Amino acid sequence: MMGMQTIPEYSSAELLEKMDSMGFSKELRESFRKCIDFHTYPAPGMLIGVFMVDYALSLIGKKPDDKIFVTSETPKCLPDPPQVIMHATTGNHRLRVLPIGKFAITLTPFSAKDAAEGVRIYVDRKKLEKYPIIAAWYDNTPSFKPATMKKQLVDDILTAGRAILSYERVKMNVTHKKKWTSVTCPSCGEQVPENMMEGTHCAGCGSLAYYERME
Ligand SMILES: [Zn+2]
Repeated sequence: MMGMQTIPEYSSAELLEKMDSMGFSKELRESFRKCIDFHTYPAPGMLIGVFMVDYALSLIGKKPDDKIFVTSETPKCLPDPPQVIMHATTGNHRLRVLPIGKFAITLTPFSAKDAAEGVRIYVDRKKLEKYPIIAAWYDNTPSFKPATMKKQLVDDILTAGRAILSYERVKMNVTHKKKWTSVTCPSCGEQVPENMMEGTHCAGCGSLAYYERME
């Protein structure tokens, strides 16, 4: 009989116990607990993201419930911690996800001006030299063996904390809400904001078409 192969991995309960023994603050531990629950499992990148949000908030001197705009430079893992910890979501326009492919996140407190100042935090590849297992996982190299290294990877991420991160102060342009009018797409007959039309049709009938109607 083929047995289920058990990949040595921490359960959420084991991880939280580990954080307690490592002396994590109540707030940080609670952030990890909520993020693991939301993400449905303790993905390494998501764990690093919790440290990133925690670090970024302290650098800009803000609290999680302050009005802060977040930009994640990857769709992988990193958009989840700001959603859970700060309630910055794509739906409330406080979270933007850019497909750049970098493990970096920018936090900028809301500004009524045309530019906002904040902080960009990123995983610093040079700082990973001290953590070869995190480096192997981060570089997605064959030397990272999930079957035997998963627990050690998580151990190293929790031990490293902010030590693998660097930051820079940044400013960026802010687009404020603009007035818009609704138009009917002549192709599908549905309503869309006029500024989202692609010439004579909507994006759903054009560059963003993603389905075929079934008979
Ligand atoms: Zn259309």
